[in-house]
Amino acid sequence: MNLIIIGPPGSGKGTQGKLIAERYRIPQISTGDILREAVRNGSALGVKAKASMIRGELVPDEVVVGIIEDRLTQRDCGKGFLLDGFPRTVAQADALESMLGKRGMVIDHVINIEIEVEELIGRLRGRRTCRRCGAMYHFTFNPPKKEGICDQCGGSLYQRDDDKEETIRSRLRVYARQTGPVIQYYASEGLVRSINGFGCIDDIFHRIVEVIENGEAYAKRGSY
Ligand code: ADP
Ligand code: ADP
Ligand code: ZN
Repeated sequence: MNLIIIGPPGSGKGTQGKLIAERYRIPQISTGDILREAVRNGSALGVKAKASMIRGELVPDEVVVGIIEDRLTQRDCGKGFLLDGFPRTVAQADALESMLGKRGMVIDHVINIEIEVEELIGRLRGRRTCRRCGAMYHFTFNPPKKEGICDQCGGSLYQRDDDKEETIRSRLRVYARQTGPVIQYYASEGLVRSINGFGCIDDIFHRIVEVIENGEAYAKRGSY
């Protein structure tokens, strides 16, 4: 099963993406995680990406398309994959379509998490990320058992550079302008499954599972 999860920064893509990947045993491919790791390692990719990321702007299309092209050819993608944070522009969506087309693959569902801006700002401000395994927490909504320490791997938690107020606003603007049209793109192919992104993490996950497992019934009903 080939899935895309799309939604504004803070909508819960990473959190839900991990749950989906576990349940369906497919890899979660997060361009944000791949880019952050490259920046940490100081690789050539990291050097190319860093300036845009700090400003809350998108990394150039050819850079992320290259990442995805490499990643999708790895063996673990054979039984499906979940793209988290890609595509973020119509040009990226076009590139993905031609990549998949060459391999005779298609996207099954585009899970679109819908949520309001005020909620996003609160979530992003309080987000804490594990330095070692990338797990996400929230200061108040989803705190770790022990402050500053990852429940899953014992790594230390940090606040991402781009989760500061000013950068958050710029990322939300970039989302509306550049990623909004990607939803239209997939809507015209009948692939968008819109999910209400409010509520607790488990409830949202159940909404997503229901949509994945009753995709066709869902398409007739229209919204969730
Ligand atoms: P969030 O989870 O907050 O939506 P991500 O971790 O997905 O953010 O992405 C963080 C940053 O990495 C983005 O602000 C952008 O600079 C860069 N990035 C991630 N994915 C892409 C992409 N598909 N195209 C361009 N830039 C990207
Ligand atoms: P994205 O990948 O879309 O940027 P994340 O999954 O990183 O979003 O979630 C952003 C922040 O909101 C994290 O701190 C996360 O712990 C928290 N969060 C995720 N889902 C929920 C939810 N349903 N309710 C409250 N907070 C949430
Ligand atoms: Zn961890």
